[in-house]
Amino acid sequence: MPHRPILFLDVDGVISLFGFDEPPPGRFHWVDGVAHYIESACGERVRRLAERFDVVWATGWEEKANEYLPRLLDLEVEELPHLTFGDAVFGSAHWKVEAIDAYAGDRPAAWIDDSLDERCEQWAEQREAPTLLVETDSATGLLETHVEQLLDWAG
Ligand SMILES: [Mg+2]
Repeated sequence: MPHRPILFLDVDGVISLFGFDEPPPGRFHWVDGVAHYIESACGERVRRLAERFDVVWATGWEEKANEYLPRLLDLEVEELPHLTFGDAVFGSAHWKVEAIDAYAGDRPAAWIDDSLDERCEQWAEQREAPTLLVETDSATGLLETHVEQLLDWAG
């Protein structure tokens, strides 16, 4: 379905929460020796997004996202496409944009991430295809309001 928009989905600060005082219902999962807190409702939210978007992992986890997250989130697919960032410097401004732009091509695309900056906004503004940036708070991650915003936009 060529007209489905892409959703670039970050993991840390969107699916895996950090910096919270009182986490929402959920639990820690061990991933390569690191504890990641995932809200119980997160899987259902991602599954609803996947009904309307072609979801792509846009995370420093790269291929590791597929080793853990489809199972932890109970996704209907065993894996999703994932971006790789080559020798991009994590934390530089903004290290994901080039890979996201190349993957998106001229397709409508949304990007949800807890760490967007002006470089990301410039990228979104200069695209000709419909583009939506959604920023999360790393302590609360992907919320119901974000899902509604994304689904409304896709509609
Ligand atoms: Mg992040």
